[in-house]
Amino acid sequence: MTTMECREIFAQLSEYLDGELPPDVCEQISGHIEDCPPCVEFVESLKKTVGLCKGMAVEVEAAPRPLPEELKARLMAALRQG
Ligand SMILES: [Zn+2]
Repeated sequence: MTTMECREIFAQLSEYLDGELPPDVCEQISGHIEDCPPCVEFVESLKKTVGLCKGMAVEVEAAPRPLPEELKARLMAALRQG
C-alpha cells in the first residue's frame, strides 16, 4: 500500500469531498487523514467553507466556489515551509 503525502491529499481534496474519487482512493485519503492532524484540520475547514458557499449560493444565488483556492494555497505554503 502506498503512503499518500499531505500535498497529494490536498490536491484531491475537493474531489474527495464531492465524492468524485474512486473508492480505493477515498479510502487512502480518509486513512491518511485519520492519522494526520494537519489534514484533519484542513478537511474540517474545507468542509465548513464548502458548506458555507453552498448555503450562500442558495440564498443569494452567488456563483459557488467549489474549491477554496485561497485556503489551499495558504496550507500548501505552510507545508513548503515545513
Ligand atoms: Zn496529512
